[in-house]
Amino acid sequence: KSSVAKAAAKKLGFLYVDTGALYRAIALYLLEQGIDPADGPAVAAALPGIKIGLEDTPQGQGVFCNGKDVSGRIRTPEVSMATSTVAAIPAVRAFLLGLQRELAQKHDVLMDGRDIGTVVLPQAQLKIFLTASPEERARRRAAQLKRAGQPVDYSQVLADIRQRDQQDSTREIAPLKPADNAILLDNSSLTRDESVAKIVDLVRQQRDAALA
Ligand code: C5P
Repeated sequence: KSSVAKAAAKKLGFLYVDTGALYRAIALYLLEQGIDPADGPAVAAALPGIKIGLEDTPQGQGVFCNGKDVSGRIRTPEVSMATSTVAAIPAVRAFLLGLQRELAQKHDVLMDGRDIGTVVLPQAQLKIFLTASPEERARRRAAQLKRAGQPVDYSQVLADIRQRDQQDSTREIAPLKPADNAILLDNSSLTRDESVAKIVDLVRQQRDAALA
């Protein structure tokens, strides 16, 4: 999902904002500080000590936490699971809401995340709900982990995806669901390049319609 969104943003000349990476950076920080990601009050108390930002690096856009580039370390399965837990804490969502809206106000953005069309940017000019089957997503994630030289167990990756989907779509705050006026795009059988082309097309169509 993020590699497709990133490539589409590049073609369009928009700033790409991977909001999952922002949540992941918070989870990583908590794990490193020995704070239990399920402990709401402890997590809320830690937030004022966290400064998250997006910055350009020689390797492309990086996620920074308190001045350190954490882009690589936020992609482990351990951080993924902790992220889903911290993302259910209202104080964490409120903390990142301001940052996400600020980015959208300052730049043309392609913002990638589960609650962007529903909560963060309800007035977005175009909303796309990009999805794929859990099996296909697990295959892609496993290939990604393999490329990063990390150990891969496909059935574990699939089980994690299912558990996270369940957690993310049933939570009370900002659950994973399409906005009413979102365009549904299932890319299970599309290649990466086809998905990018489709998104770029949708943006151009929307722009043309707005100008007409
Ligand atoms: O998209 P990604 O897998 O990087 O997101 C990691 C986790 O961050 C998700 O499982 C979800 O719990 C949380 N998240 C969220 N809202 C967003 C983006 C991510 O709750 N907008």
